[in-house]
Amino acid sequence: MSFKDLKISKPLLRAVAEAGYDNPTLVQEKTIPLVLEKKDVIVSAQTGTGKTAAFALPILQSLLDKQDAPKKGKTIKALIVSPTRELAIQIENNFNTYCTYTNLRTTVVYGGTSIEPQKDILKKGIDILIATPGRLLDLHKQDVINLDYVETLVLDEADLMLDMGFIDDVKKIERLCTRDKQTLLFSATIPHKVEFLANTILNNPERVEVAQNSSTSKNVNQWLYYVPKRNKIELCLHVLRNTIKGNIIIFRRTKFGVDKLEKTLLKNGYKVDSIHGDKSQTTRQDALNRFKKGEVNILIATDVAARGIDINELDAVINFDLPNIPETYVHRIGRTARAGNSGAAYSFCSADEKNYIKSIQQLIQLQLDIIEEHPYPLDPKAKPIIHKSTKTGSKHKKRRKSVASKKKKKRWY
Ligand code: AMP
Repeated sequence: MSFKDLKISKPLLRAVAEAGYDNPTLVQEKTIPLVLEKKDVIVSAQTGTGKTAAFALPILQSLLDKQDAPKKGKTIKALIVSPTRELAIQIENNFNTYCTYTNLRTTVVYGGTSIEPQKDILKKGIDILIATPGRLLDLHKQDVINLDYVETLVLDEADLMLDMGFIDDVKKIERLCTRDKQTLLFSATIPHKVEFLANTILNNPERVEVAQNSSTSKNVNQWLYYVPKRNKIELCLHVLRNTIKGNIIIFRRTKFGVDKLEKTLLKNGYKVDSIHGDKSQTTRQDALNRFKKGEVNILIATDVAARGIDINELDAVINFDLPNIPETYVHRIGRTARAGNSGAAYSFCSADEKNYIKSIQQLIQLQLDIIEEHPYPLDPKAKPIIHKSTKTGSKHKKRRKSVASKKKKKRWY
């Protein structure tokens, strides 16, 4: 099947060809016709499958088809909501590429940067808006955004959106748009809460599923090291010295962990950068750009900061901390071995993470290959270290947290 068969017209075909896309990917083949038919759709697909174009191209096509209609001035006709800023920026870049030979205008708004320049662009009028939930609602409250003309609403990475606590924001945004809009929900996985959200806001949706969410690529060699927690940094240095070469992402669960490992690797002469939720947007974007350009070959990240980001040519993933949600393992290692290349994933498991490994192996229906020959083996009888609280009494306090203390609370991702 070609893009032409999917009823994509010349200006878009030209841009897509220049971007090097020969044929549509599977998710595009299945999704584009449904979107053009104005159906609500739930798509379960991960980054790397071409899902952005699966919604961007038919949205642009529909807008082009309508361009002969009397001009009302530019109003937001498509709204794409993304949980993270990096992903929002990436989606806008894709739209801009596909829009090259049209006069459709796109912009992206997200938090962590000055709001005024975003207001100025919005006031000039745009057709397509890509936004993170918080900033979108902020701008709406300030009356800079009018969602009365939205014909298509896209919720991208819906599972992550809910994990990050955006459920109320998403519902609010949905209500701010017109009732008869088309809604498209994209999610790497469809857990109950996503299904529930879909049931409340989508209208008789069609479903597209492109890959088994629990499957990991056959081209990824997956290795497992059992190691005491205190020796993980030494093990990491050991494998970087002796085993892994090339472009590597190291996943840690918390931003504190990311910072600590980054310092150690820098001290040891590695070219490293990092991303997590506490860094400013520009710093995060700079880090990503440096990694993509090859100025650094190691990127340390939390799951939330790295989710959805399209990074090609990754040689290996290190799971420095194992994820407590097994699907996260699949997302992480799905970043390597793209486009038929082979890749490798190395997981470090300490005594307290053995249960995580069990669930991961159950999900992927595969036993990871255990590397026993390394300098920091874990005593098989080692018990998890449990940090006991010295506080007495019930851990469930009766009092509610004050507003000030809630404000002080830092994000962990
Ligand atoms: P996504 O899953 O949307 O993040 O896309 C992953 C990568 O695939 C991006 O770099 C896209 O530019 C690229 N891509 C999307 N559609 C196609 C296609 N039909 N042919 C080749 N590459 C594509």
